Amino acid sequence: MTELNARENQKANPFLSEVAQASGEKISACFQCQKCSAGCPIAYAMDVLPNQMLRHIQYGHREKVLTSNTIWICASCYTCSVRCPNNIDIAKIMDTLRALAVHSEFKPGEKDIPIFHSAFLDTIKSRGRIHELSLILQFKSKTKDFFKDAALGWKMYRKGKIKLLPSKFCGGKKEVKEIFNAFEKGARQ
Ligand code: SF4
Ligand code: SF4
Repeated sequence: MTELNARENQKANPFLSEVAQASGEKISACFQCQKCSAGCPIAYAMDVLPNQMLRHIQYGHREKVLTSNTIWICASCYTCSVRCPNNIDIAKIMDTLRALAVHSEFKPGEKDIPIFHSAFLDTIKSRGRIHELSLILQFKSKTKDFFKDAALGWKMYRKGKIKLLPSKFCGGKKEVKEIFNAFEKGARQ
């Protein structure tokens, strides 16, 4: 796609413009070589492969993209970004799509993963580091799935992997607060 065609396509396609602007990536430059999907370690579990994701964005298929399970099971390993011959940072695009999906009208393609992300961030926000038990309790109270993995949790507790009490805030409380404030301000804009 030429630069002129790409610009015209973005004008006619608000979703493409939105994702391109929010991610800062040249999505129109993707020519479907599929190197991203060939290297993705999670591709087998995705309902839309990374190269297909780029194509759907180019076509403006907003609902298809924002309701896919792909954006939630992407492990942000950056293999796709490193392999892309056009230097498109696909992992960054996946990040952008997660943020857009959270603020969209659609139900997420994976129910529990966004809840886990949110519980994880809440723990970091309040303590500056992860406290597994708080994370588990918050996650379970939101998913209402109290018994799944209970045996594993008990096993981890017995091996000292789950502490009952959180450690003290590890320093940098002000900085952590500033990071979250900046993020929340950006998300509202
Ligand atoms: S960043 Fe996500 S999409 Fe890219 S290779 Fe890793 S898991 Fe796959
Ligand atoms: S590797 Fe890059 S150019 Fe190739 S399909 Fe993936 S995003 Fe498109």
